[in-house]
Amino acid sequence: MGKKRQIPRDGPAVRASPKRLAEKLAAEMGVDLQAGGGNLFEVTAEAPPGTIFAATGTHGVVAQVEANRPAADAWRAILSDLRGGLIACGDPGCEICNE
Ligand SMILES: [Zn+2]
Repeated sequence: MGKKRQIPRDGPAVRASPKRLAEKLAAEMGVDLQAGGGNLFEVTAEAPPGTIFAATGTHGVVAQVEANRPAADAWRAILSDLRGGLIACGDPGCEICNE
C-alpha cells in the first residue's frame, strides 16, 4: 500500500465549472444546450416542449459574452436560469407550442 493522498474537500479537483454544472443540470431537466463562438461566445438553452423557464418566462434563453471575456460568465448566467426551474407554458396562443 502506498501513501494515502489527502484530497481537499473544496479544492479545485472537486469544484465543477459552471459549464459542467449547467450541462449536468440541463441534462436532468431535458433542456437542450448549444454553445458556440464567433465575435461573441453564446450559450443557448431550450426548454422541453410545453415548458418555459420560470426565470425568464420564455422557451429559450441566450447568454452572450464578448469573445475576450471568460466563457464561464455565460455558463454562470445560463446556470442561474436553469436553477429557476421549468414551468408549463400557459399561453394557449403560444406560437412555439402550436407550431
Ligand atoms: Zn409555449
